[in-house]
Amino acid sequence: MRQQTKKSYVSETVSRLKPSGIRRFFDLASSMEGVISLGVGEPDFVTSWNIREASILSLEQGYTSYTANAGLLELRQEIAAYLMRKFHVEYNPETEILVTVGASQALDLAMRAIINPGDEVIVVEPCFVAYEPLVALAGGTPVLVETHGDDHFKLRPEQIEQVITDRTKALIICSPNNPTGTVLQKEELEAIGRIVKKYDLLVVADEIYAELTYDGTYTSVAAVDGMWERTILISGFSKGFAMTGWRLGFAAAPKEILQAMLKIHQYAMMCAPTMAQYGALEALRNGEQDVEYMRKSYRRRRNYFVQSLNEIGLYCHMPGGAFYAFPSIQSTGLTSEQFAERLLFEEKVAVVPGNVFGASGEGYIRCSYASSLEQLQEAIKRMKRFLERL
Ligand code: PMP
Repeated sequence: MRQQTKKSYVSETVSRLKPSGIRRFFDLASSMEGVISLGVGEPDFVTSWNIREASILSLEQGYTSYTANAGLLELRQEIAAYLMRKFHVEYNPETEILVTVGASQALDLAMRAIINPGDEVIVVEPCFVAYEPLVALAGGTPVLVETHGDDHFKLRPEQIEQVITDRTKALIICSPNNPTGTVLQKEELEAIGRIVKKYDLLVVADEIYAELTYDGTYTSVAAVDGMWERTILISGFSKGFAMTGWRLGFAAAPKEILQAMLKIHQYAMMCAPTMAQYGALEALRNGEQDVEYMRKSYRRRRNYFVQSLNEIGLYCHMPGGAFYAFPSIQSTGLTSEQFAERLLFEEKVAVVPGNVFGASGEGYIRCSYASSLEQLQEAIKRMKRFLERL
């Protein structure tokens, strides 16, 4: 018979972590029938066939052993060429690029490589749910900066300056943002860069949605004058190339930082999966057209969905990137949790309450529009009916 141990063996840091609020809604929604899910944060496309075929071929050819810890050199070379071609940033594939198990692992490595116990890391919210826990797990202290819907969730540089202390080590920014879809423009990044340089901070730039930018050109933080030296650029294949299940991402950073990340990676992970790396190689060599096709498709759906949300009375700014709409539900008088729960139970539409992305997400819901147009139309019909009944 199992016995209750006298004490918990789980570390205090882990005990203190909050469970992800997104999971609870997934679990609820998956136990119901006929649900339209706007909850998941992933593309609705299957990975392009040429990418899958390249991966299958690598298996047929017997490439089943470890790769170099940093990833296949060929792949790092393609990543370097891609970063140069797309974002005009130059990295040495031999020493400044690391292939990881998703952008998720790259974020984890970045935190662990730079944080000394008690260091503060500024986290701009609403944001991806992993940032705060990853900072805490690395022994740091997350310091939250809120952005607001009436300002289209833009990060104002003076907000960063207000929270800087002599323990501040880094700032995490994500553009296009999950959950708000907000894209930081070049001038905004330059203004943020001035503060970062003034206080000698690092920026961990989560650019996983860079391919999914719909208006104008995308500026990488690392391309801003004087920022390359202070940026850990994180990206991957999950979103732009529709490869979430492949678990492949990468980090690019100045040699000293990248090599520190590699040191952890070689002990903790060895290398990213070999067959996925061969797929990614094909994605970078011949994937451009498919990315373009998917981008156009998301853009059409964004335009339809955001306009429709506004028409049914849920104010929503036009997100510049990613595949999320983040409308305000404040006019209903419900909290984000109440709104999401009632919408799920009464109309079978699953969305994510905005407060799971941080306190400033309260009063909003996140809806992913990476669903078919028919599903989006049906979701709008149900949401309209729900609002009329309130
Ligand atoms: N960053 C952001 C902002 C994300 O939304 C996600 C996935 N939801 C990730 C990182 C992790 O992506 P990956 O699949 O590459 O680990």
